Amino acid sequence: MAEQTIGTKCVQGGYTPGNGEPRQIPIIQSTTFKYESSAEMGKLFDLEASGYFYTRLQNPTNDAVAAKIAALEGGTAAMLTSSGQAANFYAVFNIASAGDHVVSSSSIYGGSFNLFSVTMKRMGIEFTFVSPECTDEELNAAFRPNTKAVFGETIANPALTVLDIQRFAKAAHAHGVPLIIDNTFATPINCRPFEWGADIVTHSTTKYMDGHGAGVGGCIVDSGKFDWTRYPEKFPGLCTPDDSYHGVTYTERFGLEGAYITKATAQLMRDFGSIQSPQNAFILNLGLESLHVRVKRHCENAQAVAEYLKSNPKVEWVQYCGLEGDKYYELGQKYLPNGSCGVVSFGVKGGREAAERFMGRLKIAAIETHVADARTCCLHPASSTHRQMTDAELKAAGVSPDLVRYSCGLEDAADLIADIEQALND
Ligand SMILES: *Cc1c(COP(=O)(O)O)cnc(C)c1O
Repeated sequence: MAEQTIGTKCVQGGYTPGNGEPRQIPIIQSTTFKYESSAEMGKLFDLEASGYFYTRLQNPTNDAVAAKIAALEGGTAAMLTSSGQAANFYAVFNIASAGDHVVSSSSIYGGSFNLFSVTMKRMGIEFTFVSPECTDEELNAAFRPNTKAVFGETIANPALTVLDIQRFAKAAHAHGVPLIIDNTFATPINCRPFEWGADIVTHSTTKYMDGHGAGVGGCIVDSGKFDWTRYPEKFPGLCTPDDSYHGVTYTERFGLEGAYITKATAQLMRDFGSIQSPQNAFILNLGLESLHVRVKRHCENAQAVAEYLKSNPKVEWVQYCGLEGDKYYELGQKYLPNGSCGVVSFGVKGGREAAERFMGRLKIAAIETHVADARTCCLHPASSTHRQMTDAELKAAGVSPDLVRYSCGLEDAADLIADIEQALND
């Protein structure tokens, strides 16, 4: 049989029940698992046999959902985490430690920027941030002998910049390090970064994957393509024995397809413990079952809203890579030919006050610190998340005072547009 299409994988991937078994993924709400003998359990602790013994390490519900996301991204292995923040932290910390360095796009989620530039810096890992529009020379100049990874977002939240994944992958590989891509906004429905050379993909599953504002979660997927063994001195954690795990060498025991995720599970999840609860994994899977249907609708609504905003004289500017003439239109056509995401940014004429007034008049779109929900929501960063900043500081951070981040839900586009119209006209 031909390989299944992504829509079929959304519905059926990750879990195949046997005869008489539950049709839906069972929620294994159990912290632990029972064994007949200590010897059998010992083999699991030595990573000599695979099986479950404690949910902080692995849980069958979580594994089924992770396997589905691995299939959607075209990866070889995946793990769920408690949040997108945990996913990005683990993805980097799995291959970088104190004294190491990482190159990151400067256009990334604010939480990731803070994690990298403040918290991980305190752990001794230094980041160099480069503009996604930097020249190849600038990009190559950012690397150091101790660089361990490159990081970027397919579509950045909230700037909506589209990353030239191929270009960043080429630079990463030329310096012997993997490219990690946060694919939260695009989802594997619209872009599969591994097809463009990325090596590791992360997600805040809180966003479109769950899609119903019901569960915070994250995921890391490995392509299995990056050959750690070519650079054993750069990645000793993967290529030399792990003393904390009975001397196992991950690349030898689990191959390129399993080494990275097994290490992240055996070391990082064991020690930091940011697991997704099986209950949340079940909710996430309900979202994944309709991901291909919902993402299409989110994008159709966003395209219609963006085109309407563009035509309205009360709107100063609109940013959406699906609009012809947008700064990221060409990159969008290359990496996201079937649609980008449901989030549109725009500026209301009249600046900060006009934007605030407009937001207050919206009836369908709710003011929330969230995106990618089934219900339309919006945020005015200048009066909320960034309210302590002056107009000049906002500008430096790439957030203009009039910026409204509008996340199109699954309602009818005509209703969303009518709501925007009345709020602009009032
Ligand atoms: C929301 C978000 C995160 C953080 O995810 P949480 O699930 O909120 O921890 C990371 N990256 C991107 C692109 C996001 O939008």
